[in-house]
Amino acid sequence: MIETDILIIGAGPAGLFAIFQAGNINLRCSVIDSLPQPGGQLAEIYPKKPIYDIPGFPEIKAGDLIKNLLKQSEPFKPHFTLGERAETLEKTDDNKWLVTTNKGTVHKSSVIVIAGGLGCFEPKKPNLENLQDYENKGIDYIVKEPEKYKNKDIIIAGGGDSALDWTIELSKIAKSVCLVHRRPVFRASDSSVSTAFEMQDKGVIEIFINSEITKLEGTKCLERVEITSHEPECKILKHTDYFIPLFGLSPKLGPVKNWGLNFTKDLIIVNPEDMSTNIQGIYSIGDISHYPSKLRLILSGFYEATIMAHSAYKYIYPEKKLSVSYSTVKGIKPLN
Ligand SMILES: Cc1cc2nc3c(=O)[nH]c(=O)nc-3n(C[C@H](O)[C@H](O)[C@H](O)COP(=O)(O)OP(=O)(O)OC[C@H]3O[C@@H](n4cnc5c(N)ncnc54)[C@H](O)[C@@H]3O)c2cc1C
Repeated sequence: MIETDILIIGAGPAGLFAIFQAGNINLRCSVIDSLPQPGGQLAEIYPKKPIYDIPGFPEIKAGDLIKNLLKQSEPFKPHFTLGERAETLEKTDDNKWLVTTNKGTVHKSSVIVIAGGLGCFEPKKPNLENLQDYENKGIDYIVKEPEKYKNKDIIIAGGGDSALDWTIELSKIAKSVCLVHRRPVFRASDSSVSTAFEMQDKGVIEIFINSEITKLEGTKCLERVEITSHEPECKILKHTDYFIPLFGLSPKLGPVKNWGLNFTKDLIIVNPEDMSTNIQGIYSIGDISHYPSKLRLILSGFYEATIMAHSAYKYIYPEKKLSVSYSTVKGIKPLN
């Protein structure tokens, strides 16, 4: 069991800045995110896009902003549970919370902060008859531990950045990598596409365009896939250890919806004075929280994280006085 003062659900910019603000007043944080990397929408949807409305940064790439937020949170030694979805919520006899993930990791905390943004990013899945039979038995939707694919035969499907980037990356350790895309043209960055085709020319990888996976076969786990090519029309059966469809992710609010919180549509209603929800000890910040005049911007999440940290401190230590002191005056005091 992982014990902490504040458990943050969602490692987007709001959740990451909350680690800093909480750490600054001696509160320790753990973070759960269903994605394999921190950064929320910025890391998953637009890491290479420049953002122009972060105060003090006339222009900063989304991926760089996340790197900076992680660096800023480092002194406060957050614990990250990545690639796992917060699933169930229980109250303990000592007035704390237990949150269990879909993979069974249990977190115990005094306060919970839901910074879930648009919700959990769920993989878009291919439409194949017996898909579920092979999930985690040869089919993966995210690449969490690349080492797992060492010396294995892999088939990746998809035409975006993620499919191209992992094809290039995994080809360094896998026995073979084959990329299958149902359209003639890839949507990924020009440099990744040309690297992939150069690798194909050198015989390092195989690329099938105008093609899709149409059948999965195997006894206990996935052993073969059928690749159907539409131009020219043909089918081949190919041995594989892993099939990784990378068709993108779509957000779904998920289990948090059943935790007894007050919602308006899919947004958690909070009191903007302290970012508290209708349940004592549970706060919400960032895109997923709602109050009159809310602006769904990174900037708002930063401010809300600050308000939340101070409210959470008063909730955890009602007897202690917390005064605001400038960082320039007190500096950074790392947590042990
Ligand atoms: C293309 C694009 C461009 C944008 N440009 C700008 C801009 O220029 N300026 C600006 O201010 N804003 C911009 N935004 C909006 C900005 O990205 C969001 O306001 C910001 O990401 C919200 O941050 P967040 O931390 O609240 O949530 P998110 O970034 O959405 O992160 C939430 C995280 O919570 C995780 N999560 C949710 N539920 C669970 C659960 N049950 N268990 C585990 N994990 C969970 C998700 O996986 C996700 O990683 C843009 C958005 C997009 C899509």
